[in-house]
Amino acid sequence: MVPLLTELLGLPGVDVESYEDLGDRLILSVEAHAEEATCPRCGTLSHRLHQNHGYLVRDLAISHYQTYLRVNRRQFKCSKCGKPFSEPLEFVGPRRTYTDRYAEWIVNQVKHSDTRNVALNESLSDDLVWSMVEYMSEKNSSSM
Ligand SMILES: [Zn+2]
Repeated sequence: MVPLLTELLGLPGVDVESYEDLGDRLILSVEAHAEEATCPRCGTLSHRLHQNHGYLVRDLAISHYQTYLRVNRRQFKCSKCGKPFSEPLEFVGPRRTYTDRYAEWIVNQVKHSDTRNVALNESLSDDLVWSMVEYMSEKNSSSM
């Protein structure tokens, strides 16, 4: 674990295991430190690690770095219903390639600017910016 980066990242329950400095980009390999996850089908608490699955997720910038998290969304196998499942992670929605807080930040940028400019400044496609706007509006309407 890298304590300073874990602290800078500030995602509760998440450790930075290692990092790569690519000059203008920073890639942090992160992992949740919970040893167990709840099966989404039957609610059984499961400890059994089935396999790991890593992928990149965009997060808020750290200093001048565009920052990506290499998320290890661990696979568990439920001991009761016997089916594999991915652990839910609080900071990133299922199948999303950006963290919730990054999407929230982007939506705020769009409010004060326009989609094209935000996309250019952040090296994102217009489509990805729009997907964040839609994602956050769905997220906010479903929590009310
Ligand atoms: Zn189950």
